[in-house]
Amino acid sequence: MYPIKQKWNIIRYRCTSETGVGELQNFIMDLIFPQNVCCLCRKPGLYNTRNPWCKECCNDLLDLQTSLPICKKCGKYLEDGEGICLDCETNPPLFHVARSVGPYTDSYRIAIKALKFLGKKNLAVRMGSMMACVVKNEPEFWPLDIIVPVPTSKGQMESRGFNQTEVLARQISKDLRLRLITDALIRVKETPSQRELTKEEREKNLLYAFYLKDNKHCYRKNILLVDDVYTTGSTSKECTKMLLDGGANRVSVITWATGQGF
Ligand SMILES: [Zn+2]
Ligand SMILES: [Zn+2]
Repeated sequence: MYPIKQKWNIIRYRCTSETGVGELQNFIMDLIFPQNVCCLCRKPGLYNTRNPWCKECCNDLLDLQTSLPICKKCGKYLEDGEGICLDCETNPPLFHVARSVGPYTDSYRIAIKALKFLGKKNLAVRMGSMMACVVKNEPEFWPLDIIVPVPTSKGQMESRGFNQTEVLARQISKDLRLRLITDALIRVKETPSQRELTKEEREKNLLYAFYLKDNKHCYRKNILLVDDVYTTGSTSKECTKMLLDGGANRVSVITWATGQGF
């Protein structure tokens, strides 16, 4: 059984998905469940859906964003130098470009974990807006036609009650005024946690894990694929392959956080 707050969140999520009146729902939720600690460092204060973290954490997120140069293709942070990471050089990805808001460390890691594992869906509003901002400011992404989130497995959907990439994609779609297609891709294979696996194991694990349900929305379209974290890029690459096989013109990827590449 879900605890009452999680139950509320699920009801709210379903309402907002179907009616699109998210702002009002968030306002009501902020009134019912006021947030009195920063969701990243637990510092007491008054927070809400639009401002879920304290000033220090906000500055931390901004500082981390520009702390290291990034690979021009996949957006991974590079130890030093500029240009393209070794990974993209030896095995060029099929997607056009990939970018993240920040590195998968410190506050970025806490934020995605709080959204994913603690069910703090209200975080997706601010996080999705920050992702939309990165897309807006990177000319390589444009033009774009539709947004497609990476699907989650049935098991995860049942245990969490929502797909974290879909809630992020919903906010991005709102901010960029682009159509969101949530059921273009479906996950047909349950994959165990990818965290401890090597790049090769991840790729093998994800092989044929996704299926393009219907290509009518994707055919000849420039697609923005949304995922939470880019580590080896296996998930993004596999989904890109499915979308391109289905006739998509171009696929670009936006994630909340990314790892490091050398
Ligand atoms: Zn904080
Ligand atoms: Zn790269």
